Amino acid sequence: MAENIAEGEKEKAFDHIFNTNLNHRSWDGENVRDTCLIYIVDKGEPKILSNEEGKHAEINLKEELLKDDMDMAVQRNIQVYINNSPCRACADELIVFLDMEKNSKVHMEIYAASLYNIKRKSCIDNGEPHVNSMDEKESEKESDSNAEGLRKLMEHPNCEMRVFKEKAWDDLMHILEIHQEDFNERYETTSEGNDRSRRNEDERLKEDLKDISQKKIISWHEYFMGVAFLSAKRSKDPNRQVGACIINDERRIVATGYNGFVELDSGSDNDAYFPWTKPDKHRYVCHAEMNAVVNRHGTSLKGCTVYVTLFPCNECTKLLIQSGIKEVIYYADDKAAKEEFKASWEMLELKGVKLREYKDLDGKYQGRRINLKFDDFAK
Ligand code: ZN
Repeated sequence: MAENIAEGEKEKAFDHIFNTNLNHRSWDGENVRDTCLIYIVDKGEPKILSNEEGKHAEINLKEELLKDDMDMAVQRNIQVYINNSPCRACADELIVFLDMEKNSKVHMEIYAASLYNIKRKSCIDNGEPHVNSMDEKESEKESDSNAEGLRKLMEHPNCEMRVFKEKAWDDLMHILEIHQEDFNERYETTSEGNDRSRRNEDERLKEDLKDISQKKIISWHEYFMGVAFLSAKRSKDPNRQVGACIINDERRIVATGYNGFVELDSGSDNDAYFPWTKPDKHRYVCHAEMNAVVNRHGTSLKGCTVYVTLFPCNECTKLLIQSGIKEVIYYADDKAAKEEFKASWEMLELKGVKLREYKDLDGKYQGRRINLKFDDFAK
């Protein structure tokens, strides 16, 4: 069992949480690299834990909680006030704890004072990033992974993630017997010369948590490339399913297409008439870009952008250029070395059509899995 809060410790803990939230600084003025949490089980005595001996505070929390012999039949309420957001590994560990059969009645409320772990990149103090050892890409990957961990934790039925906000600050002050005057004084001193205020931080944190919990949000690029890939799924080409999605300058989808045979019977896939074998199929197939262009229902494609799952061939490139497409965003380019594809590069460049590879413009989301299990949407 953890020691109850020692004399002077609560002041420190409060300062730590308070200062971290405002300034990302610990009480000794150093950039914060540690986590401090205060937890209470069933309105009992508050206890302070921090990251020690290479173990994160949340892991120490889990171990302390496991030491408690919890009665299965009794609902246990655990409140956690923490100056940081759980990292991926900690979130997973807490989920393991919450999932344990004997803890099925545990309810955990986590009040986070900052999303430091998730936003490491943005935690820059005096021009010095907190995570010096990581390169930007690594740091982004880690921050995505941490966000994913937190999201899973937030989705857990036995866990609630909350922003400090007024009530939590009041509760914490009360728990730690800090007086309002002291608090106001700290607030004045720590926010001096700093354009952030506690209230703004709380509001921003609230928005961030909302954003994280709404995992359904995908980026614009993911959306349009996703529609292109989804369209490709309609293709019966056994060799390669290709999709295209054309959007206008107001980010509205104006047409989609996938590779399929020329239409003989309206609304049919016309597989009966032509072979899918190479090279014969080439004489009868309409590429995704062509189908998208002709499916535009009379809308002008001037100034539009096309998302294609595969770099366009020369025939489609001609069509795209003639239609007034100003930008091509492609996913795969594994055919780019072929002669006719070289012609595509050449024409697009000469015409001044902006050509971008998907992975260069949506790096943050690269490789992210987008699940489309319809049942999930019904929840
Ligand atoms: Zn083509």
